[in-house]
Amino acid sequence: MMSKELYRETCKRALEYLDKAGIVVTDKEKNNMEVAEYGLGEVEKIGLELIVYVNTDRCCAKELILFPGQTCPEHRHPPVDNEPGKEETFRCRWGKVYLYVPGASVQNPKAVPPKGREQFFTVWHEIELNPGEQYTLAPNTLHWFQAGNEGAVVSEFSTKSRDEFDIYTDPDINPAQSRKA
Ligand code: ZN
Repeated sequence: MMSKELYRETCKRALEYLDKAGIVVTDKEKNNMEVAEYGLGEVEKIGLELIVYVNTDRCCAKELILFPGQTCPEHRHPPVDNEPGKEETFRCRWGKVYLYVPGASVQNPKAVPPKGREQFFTVWHEIELNPGEQYTLAPNTLHWFQAGNEGAVVSEFSTKSRDEFDIYTDPDINPAQSRKA
């Protein structure tokens, strides 16, 4: 697990991006910020900062913050308990994010997968999201995303989030490795 010091530093930095995006959150939400580092210990490269606004049985809304070049690794949201799995919409609020999904591979991708882990990034249909642009993913669709060189703030709207069931392509990833406070 990441140190408390690194967690605090990472949160502080993430809040600066929310400010840039003009997104206001409460102190309680700030203090509940989650940093996903997937047990890899390289949060700058593979990681994600998030604030969860709501996560009920039917819907979920989050703010995702990505540092420049920071990557959310490839995963999918499988069916759970006869439900089809999580449907997700990503809407870019600030900066730029490159989202990759199954489909025709792009010739010259704008994102660069983290060094040494390239084999765990298998879908290469590129969707570039700029502020005000969004994309909806069907349940159980492989996807990963990386911020552009300024970083990104992305709103996520979805059905219920059950992170513990997410399936990652990289076997070294532990989805439970995220720190809150
Ligand atoms: Zn996802």
